[in-house]
Amino acid sequence: MEKSRVLVVGATGYLGKRLVKASLANGHPTFVLLRPEIGVDIEKIQLLLSFKEQGAKLVKASFSDHQSLVDAVKQVDVVICAISGVHIRSHHILLQLNLIKAIKEAGNIKRFLPSEFGTDPSKMSHAIEPGRVTFDDKMVIRKAIEEAGIPFTYVTANCFAGYFVGGLSQPGSIIPSTDHVLLLGHANVKAIYVDEDDIANYTIKAVDDPRMVNKTLHIRPPENILSQIDLVQAWEELIGKQLAKTTISEEDFLTKLKSMDYAEQVGLGHYYHVCYEGCLTNFELGDNEEEATQLYPEVNYVRAKDYLKRYL
Ligand code: NDP
Repeated sequence: MEKSRVLVVGATGYLGKRLVKASLANGHPTFVLLRPEIGVDIEKIQLLLSFKEQGAKLVKASFSDHQSLVDAVKQVDVVICAISGVHIRSHHILLQLNLIKAIKEAGNIKRFLPSEFGTDPSKMSHAIEPGRVTFDDKMVIRKAIEEAGIPFTYVTANCFAGYFVGGLSQPGSIIPSTDHVLLLGHANVKAIYVDEDDIANYTIKAVDDPRMVNKTLHIRPPENILSQIDLVQAWEELIGKQLAKTTISEEDFLTKLKSMDYAEQVGLGHYYHVCYEGCLTNFELGDNEEEATQLYPEVNYVRAKDYLKRYL
């Protein structure tokens, strides 16, 4: 079967650049959105040029120029959006809505993957303020896609390893400490950690997979379903040393959260649901949901314990 032509939107981002790499590696004709708004951002331009060197085609289009988006979308079969969470929020929600409008008008897109790649927003209607904005906004996007009748795949990627494994699941930390660790509650709630290149790889595998039309792909690598204390112990084994441990109770965590600024509260809200509530693992997959490591067992995903070795 011929591989779909894939357009990555938000390609210079943390996940976006990995999606471009995975798309090229999996043999898809790969297109990358170049926004005129990036102006003289030399790092972005150089990155985009490096994609071109590796075989991607750069397509100029702006979120504020509808026709340019329609023209970009018409060149491909699949659109993957990986714009930043921050920019999905508030008025930036319009960016993806503009993209959806263009995809609807173009009428040729076989699959759209919106910028999700986290916790499944459909399971988070109870989420706390103000962090719930992330889930609410992602649900607005889902509704717009479904109302427009655009074939989709939603990717629930769970915890990016770079943030959560690197930081031993401690908010505000992305490098594992060598002396002390703050445990969230009993630290025994299971979360799911995924290497970002694996997220990109599973995502690309899903784009041409007929089993994933109008479904959610949950990435749940069995060996990476771990509690915070599992992660800490793996790290302690690697460094040959026990860390000093303090615990923050659920009540204290929520009190501390309320004294922070808006952006921090949004971030901490995720840690609350993941580490105290267990929102990633407290449900079984249902209809219209598939698990990535079962669909694509050929992928040798990175084990969280091995991911930690890069910090030694
Ligand atoms: P980044 O912050 O790296 O940004 C991605 C891209 O968004 C940028 O490179 C840029 O693309 C585009 N963008 C940013 N601002 C604007 C703007 N004003 N107008 C248009 N485009 C803009 O995003 P991440 O890779 O961190 O996040 C991608 C997704 O992953 C999000 O949905 C986020 O919620 C999720 N995520 C999940 C995490 C987890 O642990 N599960 C952790 C972090 C993110 P360009 O300039 O190339 O056009």
